[in-house]
Amino acid sequence: MTMTPDDYSDLNNPDIPIPDELKSNIAITTLDRIYNWSRARSVWPLLFGLACCAIEMIATAASRYDPARFGMEVMRPSPRQCDLMIVSGTVTKKMVPQIVRLYNQMAEPRYVLAMGACASGGGPFKEGYNVVDGIDKFIPVDVYVPGCPPTPQALLHGFITLHKKIEGQSIMSVPWYKKGQSEAIPVPVLGPDLIDPRQGELIQAASEGEYSAQFETDENA
Ligand code: SF4
Repeated sequence: MTMTPDDYSDLNNPDIPIPDELKSNIAITTLDRIYNWSRARSVWPLLFGLACCAIEMIATAASRYDPARFGMEVMRPSPRQCDLMIVSGTVTKKMVPQIVRLYNQMAEPRYVLAMGACASGGGPFKEGYNVVDGIDKFIPVDVYVPGCPPTPQALLHGFITLHKKIEGQSIMSVPWYKKGQSEAIPVPVLGPDLIDPRQGELIQAASEGEYSAQFETDENA
């Protein structure tokens, strides 16, 4: 059973009886609470930025907004030492394989925050020839922060939303304690519907066929 912060507040109220199904599970729920409290207050973001949103992320990391209040001031340049990927900026098709690869290299538990309109859905460049319409088409996103760009306050709100999500998880149900290894996400080759240089001849033949068919249709009309 997944517990939420509201459930915990009820458990702490002596006037509310503990549900039968939880009576034998107090140790787990207490452990969840301590474990999640610790995790939520030591989330280390991955240090990288993609476009203008990254400037606001950098501003958030400075002393004025002080993410150290949340235990999040340590930004790491290695995916091996991080548990939060902040996708801050425009996601180009050329960048997608690198982002997926970095995500696969992060140890679980890991989280993704899509910062801004571009990372969430393509933003002003949606349907541009070189931009994907949201990083959630490739990796799972836990928190979306709207804005173009989002303010540092909005990003902090995203952090708090992530903390609430972490505090609602249970070690009994989280995927990273299940048996077996989790599947790595396949790394796209330069993103979907893109030109794969290894298929150059095939693409050229297909496009020439398409054009011939189009010309024949025009001539017959
Ligand atoms: S959402 Fe706006 S500010 Fe952020 S990367 Fe896109 S264009 Fe730049």
